[in-house]
Parts: sequence; C-alpha cells; structure tokens
Amino acid sequence: TLIDLFRTFPGLGNKTAFINRTGIRRFVTSYRDCYDLALRMASLLEQQGVQPGDRVVLWGPNSSWWGVAYWGILVRGAIAVPVDFMSDLARADSIRRLTDAKLVLQSRFKVERIAAGTTLLLEHLPFLLPELPPSSLINEPKPDDIAQLIYTSGTTGNPKGVILTHRNLAANIVQINSQVPIITPEFSFLSLLPLSHMFEQMGGFFTPLYRGATVIYLGALKPSAILEALAEEDVYVIMSVPRLMQLLKTSIERELAEKHLAGVFAKLSRFAEGTSMQARKLLFYPVQRKFGRNFTVFVSGGAPLSPELFAFWFNMGFTVLEGYGLTETAPVLCVNTMQRQVPGSVGPPLPGVELKIEDKEVLARGANVFPGYYQNEEATRAAFSADGWFKTGDLGEIGPDGWLTIKGREKELIVTGAGVNVYPDEVEAVLNKVAGVKEACVIGLDRGGGEEVHAVLLLDHSGTTPDAIIAQANKGLDGMHQITGYTVWKEPEFPKTTTLKIKKFAVKEAIKQGAE
Ligand code: ATP
Repeated sequence: TLIDLFRTFPGLGNKTAFINRTGIRRFVTSYRDCYDLALRMASLLEQQGVQPGDRVVLWGPNSSWWGVAYWGILVRGAIAVPVDFMSDLARADSIRRLTDAKLVLQSRFKVERIAAGTTLLLEHLPFLLPELPPSSLINEPKPDDIAQLIYTSGTTGNPKGVILTHRNLAANIVQINSQVPIITPEFSFLSLLPLSHMFEQMGGFFTPLYRGATVIYLGALKPSAILEALAEEDVYVIMSVPRLMQLLKTSIERELAEKHLAGVFAKLSRFAEGTSMQARKLLFYPVQRKFGRNFTVFVSGGAPLSPELFAFWFNMGFTVLEGYGLTETAPVLCVNTMQRQVPGSVGPPLPGVELKIEDKEVLARGANVFPGYYQNEEATRAAFSADGWFKTGDLGEIGPDGWLTIKGREKELIVTGAGVNVYPDEVEAVLNKVAGVKEACVIGLDRGGGEEVHAVLLLDHSGTTPDAIIAQANKGLDGMHQITGYTVWKEPEFPKTTTLKIKKFAVKEAIKQGAE
C-alpha cells in the first residue's frame, strides 16, 4: 500500500524530498520532515473531525504542502480528492458535493472560498502543523481500500470520479519502475503539470518518492521558468505533454531566429539524423547547455506526440519516451523504453499489464486498473467488458512486436458520408504543419447522412488565408480523408484542460451553436 511507501521516509533522513521554487525563496523539505509533518497533518484532520473513510478535497497548486497534506490524509485513513488548482469554484464545489467531502483544503490564491466552516487554507499549514503533536496512529489500509478519487479532466465532456485503490497506485509505481527505471536518487525530478492529474501525480510524486529522489515544484508553466530551473537544479528527467514540448521548442526557435542561427540549426538537425546519441549531444552542445548539465529524458503522454516534435528533441540528443495511459489505469499502461524509442508508438505494455484489441478498441487488464467510478454504477458497467477487461475508449493497433499505436478516441472518430473512418488526430497532424496555422482542432459535424471532416483553425499572424491553408492540408491527405469544412476560431486560444489538451466537446458545442 501507499502507507508502506510512506514508512520508508524516515529512513531517508535529511535527503531532500521537495524543493519549492514557487515563491520568492527556494524552500526545501527533507524526507524526515515530510514524514513528521504528515503525522501532524493527520492530527489536524482528526481535530477537524475527519474520520477514516471521509473524503477530503485537496484544491491547491503544486508544492511540498500539497504533498504533506496528501500523506496526512492517507495517514488519517481518509480519502484524498485532488481537484485541479485551475478549476473554478463551481467545479471544485460540485466535486465537494459529489464526494460529500468533510473538509476542503484550499489555497488562498483562490479568492473564492467554498462554503464557510468546511475549509482550511493550505498556506496556513506551515504555521498550524508545528503547534500540533504528531499523530500516534497510522492508518493501516488494506490493498483494496480507496486511496483517492480523481475526477477526469473532461476532454469528452462528462467528468466521472475515478476510484483508485492503494493496490492500483502501488502496482503502477512498481510496474513503471521496472520498465523505465529512469528516476534515481542522484538526480532531481522537475514537476511541471498539476499534481491533481494522475499522469503528473504518478510521475512527479509517487515514483520519485519511491526512488528516494528530490522533486522540484515550479510556480508557473512558462518556458523561461522551466529553463531557469533546469539550469540551476540537477534535473535528469521531466514529464511533459506534447503541447509543453511544443512551447519549449517555439521558445528555442525564437531565440535561434533572433541570433540568425535558424538555418544552421536546421542543417545540423538534418545532419544529426541517424547519428549516435553521443554525436547528437555534441553537435547541439551549445543548445543542450541551456538545459542544464544532466537533463536527458522527456517523458511525453496524455496526447499524441507528433513525429516532427519527437524528431526535434531526439535529433538534439534527448531521449524522448512516449507513454500512454488513463486516469482509470493509475495511469500508465504503456511506455517506450530507454533501449528503443519508436515515434508514433506508445511502446510495449508495462509488466503485469495485459492489452488486447477488440473492434479496434484498446482493452486493458492489470492490478493498476481501477475498480469503478464513484457512485456511478451505470458508467462502471459501461467501462468493462463482460469478462472484466477495461474498455479504454481509445482506438489502437498492436504490432507484431507487441508495441501499441494509438489512433484516436472512439468518441471522436469521424465517419464520413462515404462510410470512411477519419481519425481527427491524423488530420490535425497534417494541419498543424501548414504555415499560417497556430493550432488546429478537427471534429466531425453531423450533416445528415454522414459527418463532415471539419477543421477549426487558430491562425497565426502571418495573414495566410484559411482557404489556402485548407487547400495545402488537403494536398497532404488522401481523397477519402479530405477536410470538407472549416471555421476560424476567433478567440486567442482553444479551451484547454490543465494538461493543455483541447476540450473538443466545448469547441464542437461552440461551432454547433454558431451554426444555428
Ligand atoms: P475525459 O476522460 O473526461 O475525457 P481525459 O480523457 O483528458 O478526460 P485522462 O485520463 O487525463 O482523461 O486522459 C486519458 C486519455 O488521453 C486517453 O484515453 C487517450 O485518449 C489520451 N492519451 C493519453 N496518452 C496518449 C498518447 N500517448 N497518445 C494519444 N493519446 C493519449
């Protein structure tokens, strides 16, 4: 269970568990302090009337205090309900009601407070905890007890509470570590994405703590803050989403262009293709150096990583490991390995994870697969096959080598009037490469007698007309997959989840309303 992991903390003594680069000062917490503070946190929860089994909402930004609060909740035997810090009050409050939470731990950075009397501010913990005695009781959970409830980010529109047990989470920690043991105690781990999301929580919280490594939390998701932290701290690996790797790429390209080095860079990049990792690192030494001495590995997940983006970082000498998973699978199912990285593939399943394809859909089984949705039997029934496999809702193919390729989401698959299946991801990949496109989102619009392949375009400032963009993109798409309609998105950004995924259902809703 996770409590077994927690019990290893005192043995790590003064080793640093967390570094907060979130405020003005760099703030360090050792493993021993984390353990001690979590025991005091459990006392605080007891004082607040939280009983074992009660739900506690954790609604704050990434920081060591988030970590201390999380462990305190588990020590008390309560159930953690992490809520995305960027969520608005309405969503946070609806999750509080859905889970009938006893207490909300929230940040003062959110001005609005959930119903008075049920909240505690995370920023008060540094003052409250030292005044309290460490709890003398550590809850001993059974493997199938619930550790946390996570409400999915909602890219398909219907947030559901995913139950994750101690067994689910502990299993995934061990599975990941045996396939890609990249987190080691010598290096720090830079945590960028929100801890309320399973992907970051596994990669940027549980796994580093399991390996006795140090986790660094940043205040902002800005390329400049990331590069600053990479230059100053001893980071070896970060977990990313494709959109973040794209933002970093853009920031580097802008700098190269300012120094009139873009041409040289492109030539070097072509030259680097197919050479050894050592050679690539050497070729790009001046650019690599910006990333600090040891930074080597990008893990990417959550959304498809385009071959171009993969190549940009790979050719520069970085290892790029694409993985795949869902909140429901705690979260990782597959990941590329340090020995072999295949662009476009999400790698082989982790040890103990079984995968199969049925009607093109990816089905999974393993100790990391969740038992069901919280108080939602209908959704739970729909999520599993009759013989107990979890239906991921993603379409994919398994190659002869056992490696998985994700083709897109079943719900987003476009079936045209001609009966042809079009994967929006593939059309987006083509569009995103066309000059003039800042970002594209492809949806199926029901036109009666089949769906139209509809492109929603966010344009850059180059002045390229949307007609020219569509014509150019269609040249790269075969006859059956042509874009047949488009809309120009007027706002500066698409609506996004905090893991920077486009909320497609929201885009589709807006387009449909605009059409009426
Ligand atoms: P909701 O379930 O409410 O729509 P969500 O899908 O964003 O929210 P997550 O659990 O965060 O919930 O995301 C899991 C999904 O992300 C997968 O089902 C899959 O569609 C997508 N995904 C994850 N990794 C990859 C990847 N490497 N390539 C393509 N898609 C991926």
